[in-house]
Amino acid sequence: MKQIKPIYSDILIVGAGPAGLMAALQAAQVACSGCSIRIIEKNPRAGRKLLAAGAGRCNISHTGSIEEYLQHYGPLNGSRKKLLKAVLYSFSPADLGEFFAHRDLPLKELNEGKLFPRSERSLDVVELLERSAEQAGIHIHYSDPVAELYLGNSEGETAPRTFRLRTASGTIYEAGKLLLASGGASYPQTGSTGDGYELSKELGHRIVPPRPALAPIELEAYPFGELSGISLPVELRYPGASKKAGRTTGDLLFTHRGLSGPVILNSSRYLAQGTSIEIAFTDKTPEELLHFLSEAKAAGGSGLLKSRLRALELPARFIRLLLQHTGIPEELKLADLGKQASRKLTALLTAWPLRVSRVGGWDKAMLTSGGVALPEVHPHSLESRLVPGLFFAGELLDIDGDEGGYNLQFAFSSGAVAGRSAAEQI
Ligand SMILES: Cc1cc2nc3c(=O)[nH]c(=O)nc-3n(C[C@H](O)[C@H](O)[C@H](O)COP(=O)(O)OP(=O)(O)OC[C@H]3O[C@@H](n4cnc5c(N)ncnc54)[C@H](O)[C@@H]3O)c2cc1C
Repeated sequence: MKQIKPIYSDILIVGAGPAGLMAALQAAQVACSGCSIRIIEKNPRAGRKLLAAGAGRCNISHTGSIEEYLQHYGPLNGSRKKLLKAVLYSFSPADLGEFFAHRDLPLKELNEGKLFPRSERSLDVVELLERSAEQAGIHIHYSDPVAELYLGNSEGETAPRTFRLRTASGTIYEAGKLLLASGGASYPQTGSTGDGYELSKELGHRIVPPRPALAPIELEAYPFGELSGISLPVELRYPGASKKAGRTTGDLLFTHRGLSGPVILNSSRYLAQGTSIEIAFTDKTPEELLHFLSEAKAAGGSGLLKSRLRALELPARFIRLLLQHTGIPEELKLADLGKQASRKLTALLTAWPLRVSRVGGWDKAMLTSGGVALPEVHPHSLESRLVPGLFFAGELLDIDGDEGGYNLQFAFSSGAVAGRSAAEQI
């Protein structure tokens, strides 16, 4: 290994996803002219996960104040809150909006505060970042995964500490500043296979065990397979969790094998195999629902129960399954609705109990929770507290946001902060 002359850069970045690309671009703005910035990317092109974002439409960011933003990254313990605040104030959603607007790809709000590029094409975002990197003189080395990382000294052993990387092709890179932006472990087909955890560990960092997040769930004795494709608003509860974490409202999507949709994806960080959950399919309390049913019975006479239940804004296929599940005949007349049947319906509609058998898999989870432990990272610079000159950005860090643009915003913001901080040290 010693015979191969390392290729030197001032800043070396691992990973050409949104975090790594933004880090390089912001570093290029701050760094001295003539400074070299290099990205090593395992894939033949940049931003493969970014291409898949928002089903190819790229939900880049979200409207709202930073204080509102902070509510979308799970439980806010001390170091997570500090880091998120520092990063999001330093390169804010407004800064990101301006970044794209200046490059002729302004963001627009599509639904419920979600921000997309005007063209609604992830490809345009990736091409814009690649083009900007090329114009800024950033070298991107593709199709060559980093295989090994170690600390070295450039000329003899007396020079300041440097980082050395060996890639699969055997090339050795050396740099004064190293920025790890190699993503998490979800959607491994996009290149994010958790390599950054090993690289960080080699440099002494603690990794909070990675778990699939923003993931669908599978359930024991799953009853809803035949409703696949139907989506409806619900409240999801997970008993035993803290009050705030234990209740989420949003759209639920039934799939063949389990549950998905925003309400599940955003809660998946709190769920695990064996977790008991309850789903409320109505916003009525049990008392209100019992009252609704007894009123319907009194007024309805020969009308059908299933028709009356439609007033709860439930899809017909769901009502059919509900009646089957409770053993109530589908053609039951309201006049024949007994107390026991009313109670059964009420119990399921207000708190349908289920038990999680599986969260994710990595191939379905859109995100990783866990990663580089935040107490070991300076929140304002994203520099390692253990190894000076080492920086982190993006999903590799122990931060996971809700769906809706919060994760790309964090990837871009943290990339910007880490890239600038690295460049300021040169
Ligand atoms: C299907 C899907 C849809 C999504 N949609 C959205 C959305 O609409 N909005 C949103 O906010 N978030 C979305 N996300 C999440 C978002 O894409 C990620 O949070 C974001 O891409 C993380 O950026 P990153 O730069 O940290 O990591 P990544 O985008 O994963 O980039 C890391 C890069 O590092 C490279 N790499 C890894 N290991 C090595 C190595 N050893 N050597 C060299 N290179 C390496 C990888 O190939 C990759 O290019 C989605 C995720 C998925 C999977």
